[in-house]
Amino acid sequence: MAAPGGYRVPASNLNTISDNLFCSTCGYVLREAVQTECGHLYCKICLDIVKRQNNPACSKCGLSLEQMESYPDRFVRREVAALKVTCINAGCGWNGNLECYDDHVNSCPFRPMRCGNAGCNRDVAACHLAHHEQQECCHGRVMCQYCNSPETMGSLQDHLEICPDVPVRCANCGIENIPRGQLSCHKDPVGGECAANYCPFRKYGCTCDELMSRQDLNRHLTEGFSAHLLLLVRLLEGGSHRNQEQAAAPEGSVRQVLRSAEAEIEAHSWALSTHYRRLGELDDELRTLVDALAGVAEGIQQVNNTNAAQMQEISALRNRVDRLEVTVQRQDATINDLLQLVRAVFRYPQLSSVVRRV
Ligand SMILES: [Zn+2]
Ligand SMILES: [Zn+2]
Ligand SMILES: [Zn+2]
Ligand SMILES: [Zn+2]
Ligand SMILES: [Zn+2]
Ligand SMILES: [Zn+2]
Ligand SMILES: [Zn+2]
Repeated sequence: MAAPGGYRVPASNLNTISDNLFCSTCGYVLREAVQTECGHLYCKICLDIVKRQNNPACSKCGLSLEQMESYPDRFVRREVAALKVTCINAGCGWNGNLECYDDHVNSCPFRPMRCGNAGCNRDVAACHLAHHEQQECCHGRVMCQYCNSPETMGSLQDHLEICPDVPVRCANCGIENIPRGQLSCHKDPVGGECAANYCPFRKYGCTCDELMSRQDLNRHLTEGFSAHLLLLVRLLEGGSHRNQEQAAAPEGSVRQVLRSAEAEIEAHSWALSTHYRRLGELDDELRTLVDALAGVAEGIQQVNNTNAAQMQEISALRNRVDRLEVTVQRQDATINDLLQLVRAVFRYPQLSSVVRRV
């Protein structure tokens, strides 16, 4: 039988302990030694266990223990208590009497303790446990200081290689501290803030491979519009040829297919996003035009209103002229009447002499 029983002392102590101080059944140094009537020594707990078995017998002499008495061996207990022993835990320098051994071992700073990190099954000296769990154990939980992602010590390094919040330097313009995830936005040749950029069609065959200022790049993109478009067309056609070849040769590596598909998708999405952006600009231009037209329409309306007012004035003037004409005609008629009267007067001499006299 093994465990629980006696004191487990280091092997280096065994040659200093006499043979009669070891338990007859567990083999360790006697704990609360008891002696049977047959004269053999057991730990108290070990004898209890043996006696609970069917047909218990002394493991030293084979006599039945069923009816046998046993008693504490005080002499042996004193001998055991006075034994000089050292701590069994590696790294610990404690030594003392065996009677203090249990107390020491239970609180020994070098007692083995199981690492608390899930996935780690290592036993570590109690005094090193915190250091192991927090600094050394690859299963230790840590948080990425940039994005708060929960990681283990083992995965943190790999995570930092791809973490989108790690500040990086833009290799084109030299600006520091751009979160890695925003670098492609920053470098975007159309909407990005980067002051220097390569032609985005360089990877599709554009031979211009110099770093250009935003202004130069815009000029290059405008001047090279058709050349760039042709590069895309060639890429798409090449892609469809490749697809046919791959259908004919099914052993073609899946990885290559994926890579070319990725390149196509990237080219498409770039072209699409450029178009969408252009559409957005056109939309804005259209809106401006509509606003301008509305302004013109308003102007025309005002002119119309002014015209109407002037027309009213003109017709009022025309009315006045008409009325004046009527007055003139009436005065003409009056003058005519008077003239006829005068003529009539001069036709009758008697009347004219009367008039002369008057
Ligand atoms: Zn024992
Ligand atoms: Zn015996
Ligand atoms: Zn110790
Ligand atoms: Zn661990
Ligand atoms: Zn992170
Ligand atoms: Zn930049
Ligand atoms: Zn180019």
